[in-house]
Amino acid sequence: MAEQRNVDTFDYVIVGSGAAGSVLAHRLTEDPGITVCVLECGPPDRHPYIHVPAGFIKMLFNPNYTWQFQTEPGEGTAGRRIPTTQGRTLGGSSSINGMIYNRGQRADFDNWAQRGNRGWGYVDVLPYFKRTERRIGIGDDRIHGRSGNLPVTDIDWIHPVCEAFIDGAAGMGIPRCADYNSGDRQEGVGYFQRAIFKGYRHSAARVFLHPARRTGRLDVRTDARAAQVLFDGKRATGIRYIDDRDRTTEYRVFARREVILSCGTVNTAKLLQLSGVGPASVLQDIGVPVLADLPVGENFRDHYSARIVARVKNVRTINEMARGMGLAGQIARWMLGKPSILALSPSLVHWFWKSDDALDFPDLQGVFSPASYRQGFVGLLDEFPGMTCGVWQHRPESTGYVHARSTDPFTDPVIQPNYLKDPMDRRVMLAGMRLARRLLHTPELAAYFDGDVLPGPEVHSDDEWLDFARRYGSTAYHLIGTARMGPASDPTAVVDDELRVHGLQALRVVDASVMPNMPSANTYCSTMMIAEKASDLIRGRPPLAPVEGIAA
Ligand SMILES: Cc1cc2nc3c(=O)[nH]c(=O)nc-3n(C[C@H](O)[C@H](O)[C@H](O)COP(=O)(O)OP(=O)(O)OC[C@H]3O[C@@H](n4cnc5c(N)ncnc54)[C@H](O)[C@@H]3O)c2cc1C
Repeated sequence: MAEQRNVDTFDYVIVGSGAAGSVLAHRLTEDPGITVCVLECGPPDRHPYIHVPAGFIKMLFNPNYTWQFQTEPGEGTAGRRIPTTQGRTLGGSSSINGMIYNRGQRADFDNWAQRGNRGWGYVDVLPYFKRTERRIGIGDDRIHGRSGNLPVTDIDWIHPVCEAFIDGAAGMGIPRCADYNSGDRQEGVGYFQRAIFKGYRHSAARVFLHPARRTGRLDVRTDARAAQVLFDGKRATGIRYIDDRDRTTEYRVFARREVILSCGTVNTAKLLQLSGVGPASVLQDIGVPVLADLPVGENFRDHYSARIVARVKNVRTINEMARGMGLAGQIARWMLGKPSILALSPSLVHWFWKSDDALDFPDLQGVFSPASYRQGFVGLLDEFPGMTCGVWQHRPESTGYVHARSTDPFTDPVIQPNYLKDPMDRRVMLAGMRLARRLLHTPELAAYFDGDVLPGPEVHSDDEWLDFARRYGSTAYHLIGTARMGPASDPTAVVDDELRVHGLQALRVVDASVMPNMPSANTYCSTMMIAEKASDLIRGRPPLAPVEGIAA
């Protein structure tokens, strides 16, 4: 029998201290007198590998700091389960992610607004992107923020293979892109902007959550696993949570104003379902009484990526630099504040391009690095010099679901992404993979190219390429959509355009799960933008003035 103790009341209770939860905690505690409690299932973010950018590769496999989710097998993954790691510490996935700052296209957000979400078009959300950002480097000040909490920097480590790759892409007609975050001119090739500054990762916890603790009105509880949203009728009143270390001691914390779920796309869906908010059939299967019959957990989307790998000659790649004396030298450089592989994001170069010449805007994102991983899966570096060109489709049509398996808060839910199920996704991926291979075969890169590794040179036909994608493809970790934003008339919607759960009171969802559709980008800064905007909605402040006059 679980013991119950420690009952407290705050103005707001936020579940999850990730990208969204950290921003929210910061903004809500800006109001004098307001008290906020953040519950985080994971431990504090003290591990040094969180803060050194290259530690990413180690943290991915550390179960103390990550959720080690596995997807269900599917046809699109040749029957494989895909490891779908998520962050589980202060900062959530922003403490273990690839640190790429990528907003997407104007059309992404205009599409959100077009679905009936007032105030979520590009000109409306742009000021919220800006409010988060402290851009250090080139950029139009109408589009980039200069005084936000999150430093966004350019790469300071230039490798000849990256330069040759960019020259080769330009030679193929993919123009060099000065700023892919301009909203309107994404297409092209160049280096990524990153949340790395002075050699360190700048997670959402580091720049938003921890500074807010100085107000004295933010109570951050780690190792606190939310197990259920508490309701009085249809009004959310608090959270029941369990000590994640002893897995036994139960607590309750109450919210005078609102309960806000920011547990990420998988766990927000699970927590809602355990609390009686979800599809009636799913709740009945696990024996939970239905409080609100809503499509929680449906509309799950992710970027499914394929990584094309080649051997490299005539130059050292990250594969060798990360070993033995090479690594010692890199550590020394990092400690002296010099450019080093320790301060890199896993992907250095981007390319955005079209799967078909008839398109107006890119529908493909590619990434490139002078490094390669065994079996093409980001993890252990190859023993030989290598380079990788990854690719995924911007806006996948295939949708999947997240369903709680049982009422046990310690059991991971079923995650079925249905990768590559939609024929459109297969067509776009085929074009993307072929383009990625061509990008590794340019004359400009020839001095360094030493043969195809993945897939081998024998792969040519559509069937062979798709077979490769199914057997070697993986998540890009951009999970969205399980608490989709949309009007009550939309049968796929879970929250309204103020992120309030339909049919319930004092309960909002603020994280990547509310995205109605996939942005044509990595999802970190869009999630922070959502939290920035949500904070104004929650505080009852007028929205920031739309940024007009930006060329469409
Ligand atoms: C490996 C990886 C690499 C990525 N690389 C990039 C990148 O380079 N660029 C980019 O733009 N995006 C990237 N992303 C995606 C980006 O990090 C996410 O989109 C973003 O962090 C989502 O924010 P969130 O607030 O929805 O969830 P998260 O940041 O995941 O935060 C959710 C938090 O809630 C906590 N939580 C969950 N359940 C409970 C519970 N029951 N009780 C208490 N706490 C709970 C979790 O432990 C976690 O701390 C990456 C993601 C991963 C995992």
